[in-house]
Amino acid sequence: MTSKFFTTKEIAPGTILIGGLGNEQCYLLEGKERALLIDALAGAGNLRAFCRELTDLPLSLVNTHGHLDHAGGNFDFGECFIHSDDIPLIYEIETADRMGFVAGMMKAAGRNLPLSEGDFTAARPIKTLPVADGCFFDLGDRRIEVIAVPGHTRGTIVLLDRGAGLLFSGDACNVNTLLFLPHSTSIEEYRESLFHFKEFQPCFDLMWGGHGPQGVPKIIIDEAIGLCDEILAGTDDAQPEEFLGRPCFYGKKKDQSFRRLDGKLANIAYDRDKLRKPPALNET
Ligand SMILES: [Zn+2]
Repeated sequence: MTSKFFTTKEIAPGTILIGGLGNEQCYLLEGKERALLIDALAGAGNLRAFCRELTDLPLSLVNTHGHLDHAGGNFDFGECFIHSDDIPLIYEIETADRMGFVAGMMKAAGRNLPLSEGDFTAARPIKTLPVADGCFFDLGDRRIEVIAVPGHTRGTIVLLDRGAGLLFSGDACNVNTLLFLPHSTSIEEYRESLFHFKEFQPCFDLMWGGHGPQGVPKIIIDEAIGLCDEILAGTDDAQPEEFLGRPCFYGKKKDQSFRRLDGKLANIAYDRDKLRKPPALNET
């Protein structure tokens, strides 16, 4: 099913990838009794109404993290599950220029579609329901586990469907993992998160992220750990770059399509001032 704002692709039984206008994507999972929407795109079009055309089941929304291109559509729903560390980020969306953001993403993706403010549900208070590492969603015959992977943001989670061997990774670990943002952790903390994430690696095959329509092989977790080690040791490529108007360094040299020149998958954009974990208060 397609609409002016959304595309769909069934990636596994009862599992639909919903694409937004700027190539951002979310996932609708149906179980026997409930449905779960993982992320809410950037907010163009009414995503809740679109989901209602796809499923009649009671529907919950969970955000992998609080960035606009994953939570901009939260206002269609009125409530969301989100890690408490990312709640401040979704407050920022209330006053953000969602239309300008989507227009910029469309331009970057080579698309052109006139938008109006009426295409966006007006900002309103959102009821936040907390999730944390070890929580799970019971969809009837389907159990979706929450794994905390702080890094890209402090409240980043990924979601595991062990039964189906699917992992929904948001922006936690991909070919262009951004760790230079104001709410990102240090490289050292991210490395610890990746080791926790790796404990679950035998339970899935492909990782389905918030951008890029293909599943990513799970070996990217090992590559990202190796790259964190190189960055911390100062032996990475440290390619200077400007991304989203901010200076940063890329751990590995890449082409314009964010593909590593050495053929591996994982890359990390980082801030040189945020490599090591800040000391705990009782250590200062
Ligand atoms: Zn993000």
